Formats: sequence, C-alpha cells, structure tokens
Amino acid sequence: MFTIIYYRKKCIGCGVCAEVAPERWRMSRNDGRSTLVKGIEKKGIYRAQARMDEFEANKAAATNCPVKVIKILCR
Ligand code: SF4
Repeated sequence: MFTIIYYRKKCIGCGVCAEVAPERWRMSRNDGRSTLVKGIEKKGIYRAQARMDEFEANKAAATNCPVKVIKILCR
C-alpha cells in the first residue's frame, strides 16, 4: 500500500491526473478541479490509501501535475 496526498485548493484543473490515472482521479463538474477517488479530507488536504498496482499511474500523476499538488508516500 501507499498513500496519496492531495492539496485540492491549489489544483488548476488541467486534467492530467485524470488522464494518466483515471481510476483514482476524476474532474469535478462543479468547480473544475480534480477529485481524489475515496480521498478523505482533513483541513483541505485529501488522503487515500491505494494498492501497489495503482502506484505507477499515480506516480505519473504526481510527477506530471504542473502545480505539484499530488504527493505519493511509500512506507
Ligand atoms: S494534474 Fe494537478 S493541476 Fe492538473 S487536474 Fe490534476 S491535481 Fe489538478
């Protein structure tokens, strides 16, 4: 397992994460930002646990996010 951390307020809605990891990221029709699927929010920061078979796609999302608001934590 690994952890995805997402600072949603700073998302600029480019859509890259939803393109490279569509099972974990969806673009919101309400505010145009990305939503972390199964993310739990605390003080504006979203976290989700994910299985390693999602790692490469989410690492690509984090690397390619132009404002670097996606972080990946491995334990
Ligand atoms: S890649 Fe980053 S800026 Fe683009 S939609 Fe995803 S979280 Fe937002």
